[in-house]
Amino acid sequence: MSEIREVVIIGSGPAGYTAALYAARAQLKPLLFGSSIFVGGSLTTTTEVENFPGFPDGVDGPVLMENMRAQAEKFGAEMIDDDIVSVDLTGEIKKLTDSEGTVHRAKAVIIATGSGYRKLGLPNEEKLSGRGVSWCATCDGFFFRDRDIVVVGGGDTAMEEATFLTRFARSVTVVHRRSTLRASQAMRNRAFADDKISFAFDSEIVEIKDENGMLGGVALRDTLTGELRELAATGLFIAIGHDPRTELFTGQLDLDAEGYIVVEAPSTRTKLPGVFAAGDVVDRTYRQAITAAGTGAAAGLDAERYLADLA
Ligand code: FAD
Repeated sequence: MSEIREVVIIGSGPAGYTAALYAARAQLKPLLFGSSIFVGGSLTTTTEVENFPGFPDGVDGPVLMENMRAQAEKFGAEMIDDDIVSVDLTGEIKKLTDSEGTVHRAKAVIIATGSGYRKLGLPNEEKLSGRGVSWCATCDGFFFRDRDIVVVGGGDTAMEEATFLTRFARSVTVVHRRSTLRASQAMRNRAFADDKISFAFDSEIVEIKDENGMLGGVALRDTLTGELRELAATGLFIAIGHDPRTELFTGQLDLDAEGYIVVEAPSTRTKLPGVFAAGDVVDRTYRQAITAAGTGAAAGLDAERYLADLA
């Protein structure tokens, strides 16, 4: 049988590493599982991060994550680059099984597994990520000044991204598969009233064009007639939703209709004593590195107080 740890953290993004930093500084010797293939979380898939405070000249995403990890390790956090594949969070002692079948036991667990942007699933989409293709206007809009931009999606997020991008862009074309938008009336009205935004309804993107390693435009197919046409653009924002990584917790924790973990906000407590959740796996609204780090810190503190009360 493995030793019983004070706290185990699942997830190696800003939320997980910050929770590890706080737990380590509280002498809890946290153990963090950070995935076998995706160590460091979402920011490792981007280059320059300009909106994380403390870096006036911006910071490279992977470098920021390596630094967060090193800072937590400096205070005694232990990291294992492996996946947790099953959990039993219901008892007083939580059990987490890694990919080799080893069961790890802990009094408290912090879940920081993040969420994934939904992809179109087209060739060149991944390759041109950071080279014209993006999933986050707040993160990347600033890099798209005076560009012609395409936004894909018909919900509130797509309208919000499109409206936000008009601050920088020359033009924004919203591409949506249907003839009506799913977005709320207020968001629709704002987008319709904006001179820089036009709409390509009943249209889907069938090709993302690579022009010397940068986005060159997209090919659209009319969903009613099948007709193809090309749209020149040097920016493509994909706003078709997110999938929180919560499959492991279904049936044990309360999840909302879209699969996000429900916590007793503003705390990070879930419905199970000793189980806390932080970052994008909880947050459907802000989804930023700094907000994930902020709730990670809160989870570290919540776990520390929970353990102190047990003692
Ligand atoms: P994540 O960073 O997603 O990390 C979760 C980690 O947990 C992942 O490594 C995952 O593999 C791991 N994990 C999941 N399940 C398990 C398991 N069972 N076992 C072990 N590990 C597991 N935000 C900004 O503020 N500024 C930006 O400029 C910016 N740019 C971005 C660019 C891109 C391309 C992307 C994709 C996102 C960007 N974001 C940016 C958003 C930001 O990255 C996220 O809001 C933030 O990383 C969320 O942190 P998190 O810790 O909640 O989750």
